[in-house]
Amino acid sequence: MAENTKIQWTDHTWNPWTGCKKVSSGCKFCYMYRDKERYGLDPTTVIRSKPPTFNKPLNWKEPAKVFTCSWSDFFIEEADLCRDDAWQIIKDTPHLTYQILTKRPERIIKNLPYQIIKTHISEPNTKLPYIPSNVWLGVSAGNQEDYEKMWLTLKTVKLTLGGVFFLSLEPLTDPIDLSRAITTIDETEGIQPNWVIVGGESGNEKGKYRYRKCELDWITSIVDQCLMRKIPVFVKQLGTHLSKELGLKDRHGGDWNEWPGEIQIRQFPKTIYQ
Ligand code: SF4
Repeated sequence: MAENTKIQWTDHTWNPWTGCKKVSSGCKFCYMYRDKERYGLDPTTVIRSKPPTFNKPLNWKEPAKVFTCSWSDFFIEEADLCRDDAWQIIKDTPHLTYQILTKRPERIIKNLPYQIIKTHISEPNTKLPYIPSNVWLGVSAGNQEDYEKMWLTLKTVKLTLGGVFFLSLEPLTDPIDLSRAITTIDETEGIQPNWVIVGGESGNEKGKYRYRKCELDWITSIVDQCLMRKIPVFVKQLGTHLSKELGLKDRHGGDWNEWPGEIQIRQFPKTIYQ
């Protein structure tokens, strides 16, 4: 149940900082840019949120999923000085599941919290990065090239540290063949994504913040590929292009009652939320 967000795959959004810089084609019509500009704010300046917002998760007492940094990127360089405080809040709220989605997976390992390990009395202490058990880490990509680059980078983190890892194929602007970066060996060794989200882009017909085309076949293909690999898949929305093309009432194509039956699917990773 979404308590303070309309995003269907989470319950809360939490923005310990806002502002970001575009890094991939998926960022082209970023809604954070649109909304900040609407209020006359510079979307490229990263600003730490004031304490009531920064500390908000401490008020959420019931288990819930928390989409972290919906108005920034958790691993953006400009937030390096704030991130330890955010990790502390994450560690202090183990009943919450933090869904951290990034387009900067190459920065994950160096910016994780760490444990101090003493391997031998005569050895110096070793700092080992780890992922808190209440964190799901994901990457976002909308085309083949970005998918391969992002997932292969995230896969090295999964191989090193383990945990729940996901892919957000949204906004999907091209067909994607998952097999180019998920091999059969990955499947047998359990290092494929634990979850895939897919969806088309919302936006305006003209102006600065538009939508790009997303075909029904592209979404159906992602669903089929996930089901074949037994990867839980969540279709978020069809996007504005398909909403218009199919004559849907919901302009984002987010009402699954209006979709063809084969893509009416909203699964979650096999964790406490199943
Ligand atoms: S990484 Fe996310 S928040 Fe940052 S510009 Fe791209 S879409 Fe926007």
